[in-house]
Amino acid sequence: MKKPLIALTMDQSPATDSRIFSKGVGIYFITYDYIRHIEKVDCIPMMLPTLHDLSPIPAIVARIDGLLLTGGDDVDASAYGEAIIPGQWRIDAPRTGMEVALILEARRQKKPVYGICRGCQMLNVALGGTLYQDIPQQVEKAIQHHSSNKPQWHYHDVRIVQDTLLNRLLGQERLSVNSSHHQAIKELAPDLQVSASSSDGIIEGVEDNRFRFFLGVQWHPETMDDDSTSLALLNAFLSCCR
Ligand code: MN
Repeated sequence: MKKPLIALTMDQSPATDSRIFSKGVGIYFITYDYIRHIEKVDCIPMMLPTLHDLSPIPAIVARIDGLLLTGGDDVDASAYGEAIIPGQWRIDAPRTGMEVALILEARRQKKPVYGICRGCQMLNVALGGTLYQDIPQQVEKAIQHHSSNKPQWHYHDVRIVQDTLLNRLLGQERLSVNSSHHQAIKELAPDLQVSASSSDGIIEGVEDNRFRFFLGVQWHPETMDDDSTSLALLNAFLSCCR
């Protein structure tokens, strides 16, 4: 059987970045976890950097069998028409623009799309929704969604909405998930349905059931490999990519 080709989007660190590994040279990067995770299923992972010329996107999407939008730096608020709240977080505007184009093209070509963390937020932004730019500043009585002392992960429960694809794939209505985000979906895009949320009302999962697999989760299944739900999600994505 032909192995599906899965494109994974990447973070970037420009030459001007203060991140220690940059050392004055611009680099694209992705964490090991995504690659180790996707290697668990029979596919070809392909890292897709942020391009400045978006004209090859229809050709790229035509060549791939599935699109995996990974986590990373903040989504650019101007993509949903809001002024950026100043803060200490890094915003990746070029990546935001490219991922919007990728998501819309993947829908046009009916390719499976799986969004993780920032990727889940991107599904909403690409389809006209908005984000909380910073949960602690903008959401009253929010629970903790971010731990500053990584690699120790913060965990919280999510409630899975009945009769959603996520519910069918996971076969449960409550799940303990890791959490490493300070942004989240605010206004839901018209074409999306909420599939999971935390006790403070933060949206933790979305999907569009007019497509075979157009699904996002706010947590990081790629680092929850010991949890059977992570592999269930990945296998469902992959079977739609075949
Ligand atoms: Mn969370």
